Amino acid sequence: MRLETLAVHAGGAPDPETGALSPPIHLATTFRHGPAGERQAGYEYVREGNPTQTRLETALAALEGGPAALAFGSGMAAATALLETLPSGSELLIPRDCYAGLRILATEFLPERGIRTRAVDMTDTAAVERALGPDVALVWLETPSNPGLEVTDIAAVAKAARAADALVACDNTFATPALQNPLALGADVVLHSTTKYLGGHSDVMGGALVFAEQGARYDRVAHRRHITGGVLSPFNAWLTLRGLRSLPARMAWNCTTARAVAEFLAGHPAIAAVHYPGLATHPGHATARAQMRDFGAMMSLRPRGGRDGALAVAARLQLITNATSLGGCESTIEHRASVEGAHPVSPPDLLRLSIGLEHAEDLIADLRQALDSQA
Ligand code: PLP
Repeated sequence: MRLETLAVHAGGAPDPETGALSPPIHLATTFRHGPAGERQAGYEYVREGNPTQTRLETALAALEGGPAALAFGSGMAAATALLETLPSGSELLIPRDCYAGLRILATEFLPERGIRTRAVDMTDTAAVERALGPDVALVWLETPSNPGLEVTDIAAVAKAARAADALVACDNTFATPALQNPLALGADVVLHSTTKYLGGHSDVMGGALVFAEQGARYDRVAHRRHITGGVLSPFNAWLTLRGLRSLPARMAWNCTTARAVAEFLAGHPAIAAVHYPGLATHPGHATARAQMRDFGAMMSLRPRGGRDGALAVAARLQLITNATSLGGCESTIEHRASVEGAHPVSPPDLLRLSIGLEHAEDLIADLRQALDSQA
């Protein structure tokens, strides 16, 4: 089945009891069992799993082309559950440009468990090869990356990591399974913040891991989720499932709009740089073209005038909202350095833009009025 069909039908069999096409939300926290704990329909307690979550996990696994998925209460809960299974004394490689929360988890929290982290330029496979060594247990990819839109050659890095006995996890939040399938390119695990495009409406938080194998690693992470409790709620599973039914259709529109916006920005005199993998001038354009079906709807722009110039543009926007997060119906923009905590790493002049479902001409008109007085 093709992606669009899978998105609509995976995990979507009509309710066997009523025939309802929209799946029931099973809010039950506990499920009847036999006197010696014998399960009757596979479930016992909601922290371990529930039928609505199972439907979502089935759908996510189908979309990413893996045998099994685990849903979590947030993207960060999913990342934590996976990274905490790395052995003490091991090393983690993360991209030099990546989501700030992941960097904080890796550099502040994981060292407490004896796991060291090194940031690497993942756009340079030779640099990754040099960084790989006997202690490296996992290479974390995020492509395109947040907020710099850097593109990693997933297949090349996965090959190098495999040769060095390291696992590869890939954050696929920006691309979504509508545009890119890291497991097919050699990654071992895919991470999603389903809070973004998969939910798609800025109203539900969640995260997920999709595994290339349903083996010991999956079991360890599932056990960890069960015991530490980072599981997704049934209602949030239901909302996310509803969101991903329309994912391919939304992404197709998003990408068309994003391309038009990126081209407009690239030609505007008040813009010093636009980072969007769909532009032929982007250093990762050829790799993105080879491993993605389209280029996504995230970009970052660097208005002239440094930090003050960027903040002035953000302040003048009227339709595009200054807000964190991404992947919703509404376009949002954010000066990342202002929200990255005590040690911001994003360039001071960088604005991250999430293109929503509005019409390209309205978004361009808003950006034009904000930029024209800058030029
Ligand atoms: N990965 C990326 C690329 C993100 O942008 C985010 C959040 O912004 C996360 C992971 C973390 O996801 P969550 O906010 O659902 O915990």
